[in-house]
Amino acid sequence: MRALVLKEYGCLEIQEVPTPELADDEVLVRVQVCGICGSDVHGMDGSTGRRIPPIIMGHEAAGIVDGVGARVSGLAVGDRVTFDSTIYCGRCRFCLRGRVNLCENRRVLGVSCGEYRRYGAFAEWVAVPAHIVYPIPQSVTFEQAALIEPLSVAVHAVERVRPRIGDLAVVVGGGMIGQLVAQTVRAAGCDSVVVIEPDEYRRELARRLGASSALHPGEASPGKLAEVCGRPLADVVFDAVGTAESLALALSLLEKGGSCGLIGNLAPEVPLPLQAVVTREYSLYGSCASQADYPRCLHLLAEKTICVDPLVSRIAPLEEGPLWFDVLYHHRQPMMKVLLTPN
Ligand SMILES: [Zn+2]
Ligand SMILES: [Zn+2]
Repeated sequence: MRALVLKEYGCLEIQEVPTPELADDEVLVRVQVCGICGSDVHGMDGSTGRRIPPIIMGHEAAGIVDGVGARVSGLAVGDRVTFDSTIYCGRCRFCLRGRVNLCENRRVLGVSCGEYRRYGAFAEWVAVPAHIVYPIPQSVTFEQAALIEPLSVAVHAVERVRPRIGDLAVVVGGGMIGQLVAQTVRAAGCDSVVVIEPDEYRRELARRLGASSALHPGEASPGKLAEVCGRPLADVVFDAVGTAESLALALSLLEKGGSCGLIGNLAPEVPLPLQAVVTREYSLYGSCASQADYPRCLHLLAEKTICVDPLVSRIAPLEEGPLWFDVLYHHRQPMMKVLLTPN
């Protein structure tokens, strides 16, 4: 089959590779679309240590079941499906408590690190364990379904923070996850949602998708917040960037007793305003990937509560993968999600 292979750091190539062998508990999916994730773009230069070549990346995908392992039930050839990126064991103490994203035997599709190598979906076919595969409703397109993986990340982060109806929410970062968090907190009942993002294209997108306001980080302050939504400080804030600056900004806009969701982690370490966190009783919630929230995310899409279509900037054949990775890596154009179509 044809696959987009990270041959060496920084070098992607279309190659002919063997079609994946199917284990008893797996299904073979003929990939219709696979999104390029920021973690693929950042990872391909070796900086994260999670894309050790050679690797077929890609974990945001949807397709058609084309083969079913001997021990699989409930899925059949021809089913339209999407799948989680996290392969969890279902047996460890974290899985047994429902915290499958913290699984002790966790593997991620399209990732190769010191411990394992698991081929992803930038290929004609991918083999996926059946327990992370979900049928998609007719009303949801393959393109929309490929965005469920990032949506599930946003849904999990909002679940961690648990905003209340009528809350004022601030989201720092208007990338893919920030945009989806903004829509999800709105759906969770937050009255006002303010997105903070330096790029005008992304600020405009946030407004279009329902944010009450979108501000440049340079103008974001309690005074400005009061001006645009009547209150100087937010009940909940989310950092969808993960740098010293983004966290400092998020916490500077948080009301006493407020909660902060931490999703981005571009910097491995950042200074923490300890005194403010202690005396203002902030709650900080780390949030990683998702906890098998796919059925709920599919529902949000099917009901059109969350709108993902404007977040797709480009749909291109798999062969153009090296080109689009290059565009995204060097920020050559203002873009959100690029989807590749292997079939
Ligand atoms: Zn991703
Ligand atoms: Zn586990």
